[in-house]
Amino acid sequence: MNELWFDPARVAIGGDWAATDRTLPVVDPSTGETVAQIARGTANEVDAAVRAAQTALDGPWGALDATDRGRLLTRLGRLVEDRAEVLARIEAQDVGKPLKQARADALALARYLEFYGGAADKLMGETIPYRPGYTVYTLREPHGVTAHIVPWNYPMQIIGRSVGAALAMGNACVIKPAEEASLTALAFVRLAQEAGFPTGAINIVPGLGEEAGAALSAHPGVQHISFTGSVPVGSLIQAAAARNVVPVTLELGGKSPQLVFEDADLDAALPFLVNAGLQNAGQTCSAASRILVARRRYDQVVDRMAARYRAVSVGPALSDPDVGPLISARQREVVQSYLDRAADLTLAAEGRIAADAPAGGHYLAPRLLSGVTADHLLAREEIFGPVQVVIPFDDEDEAVAIANGTDFALVAAVWTDSGARQMRLAKRLRGGQVFLNTYGAGGGVELPFGGVGKSGHGREKGFEALYGFSTLKTVAAHHG
Ligand code: NAD
Repeated sequence: MNELWFDPARVAIGGDWAATDRTLPVVDPSTGETVAQIARGTANEVDAAVRAAQTALDGPWGALDATDRGRLLTRLGRLVEDRAEVLARIEAQDVGKPLKQARADALALARYLEFYGGAADKLMGETIPYRPGYTVYTLREPHGVTAHIVPWNYPMQIIGRSVGAALAMGNACVIKPAEEASLTALAFVRLAQEAGFPTGAINIVPGLGEEAGAALSAHPGVQHISFTGSVPVGSLIQAAAARNVVPVTLELGGKSPQLVFEDADLDAALPFLVNAGLQNAGQTCSAASRILVARRRYDQVVDRMAARYRAVSVGPALSDPDVGPLISARQREVVQSYLDRAADLTLAAEGRIAADAPAGGHYLAPRLLSGVTADHLLAREEIFGPVQVVIPFDDEDEAVAIANGTDFALVAAVWTDSGARQMRLAKRLRGGQVFLNTYGAGGGVELPFGGVGKSGHGREKGFEALYGFSTLKTVAAHHG
């Protein structure tokens, strides 16, 4: 891959980029071709990385004050911004993400670093009124070594929100990127070195989940785990964290609904209804995979969404289509297996794959399915592909029951002109974020984000993440 200015087949431990004798192929989802090799780190490298992080905490990194940590993060954010185009091209080839979406991810990473750089010295403790003769105050302190286990769908954004916040609070990080997409994570650590982060503050060990990931989550030197990924693996991570009695943030899957009421402004809603389902080929935790529509407008919404589906371009990521390929042949099979169980549904529209899309790419035509009932498998499970289901409802109570009726609760949106309904539903809908007459597809850098139920627990993004990546100490002084 021409854009790589570093050797990706190395792990970064305590400032050294060590070669490993075992590697994993990097496959470009747009072509199916192997374009690079990354290291396949094992428990040995993970152990060395955790030790390097602890050494950094005991040394120069731990000694830095909050303002200087913030300056380093800000400097790193500028380096990321300067390289946004290169990072976007790397991501496009690694994830199969259309260029403009990959560019948005790179700029979001830069913005996270800017945000957390600015926030680093602004989280304060409190003084607590207590008995006469006492002064009591609180201190916010880092956990220590934090582990960051990252999925393949948004590597840059997820590193920005978790590693950015962890570093701002003074933790030292060990990153385990996804085996399917590690390149921008490796680039990020290279840029952090360029920015001047002390040795060992940020370490990265690419590798398989069941090897490097499992070793990292079980390591007794890790004091906090931030995991973003699937429910089954999240459950394993929480069990590993429990064994070591360390806190864990789980950012898991979703089946997020957008509710369209009779009085909705459809022209405003339509781009959000479709784009939030097809962004990153639907491989988004907060994908709007369920569209719930008031029965009287059901046919109209399906028709208008279908027209947009037919206009969607599907092709290689570097040609910057609306929708790229899926991450892997395996993921395409998973999505196809759901479609195979949708014979009883109506195919309202299907997108078209570009005629010149390489035969080896993992393409799947986007599908809009109507005539769906709330209890259908495709209306309950996370498909993680370019598939949306449209479900009718008769009244507000039914809409809420359907919206809240899956195991997941991450994000929801309501489209209505009624201010009273907006306020009611903001309270009644389960989830970590509710959007009113908009859809944030995960929301901005500043907005706390996270799930309820099987979508996980803990909050990342915004100022809130700084509480999660720190621990509170109460100091009570008796002075008479
Ligand atoms: P995944 O759970 O398969 O993998 C995520 C990470 O965990 C990878 O780095 C992987 O190597 C690692 N891993 C796998 N097995 C492990 C083990 N036994 N021990 C430790 N680590 C292990 O998830 P995925 O398929 O890469 O990502 C898709 C999922 O992530 C979807 O469910 C999606 O909704 C979710 N996701 C959630 C958010 C959010 O913020 N809520 C954001 C993005 C993705």
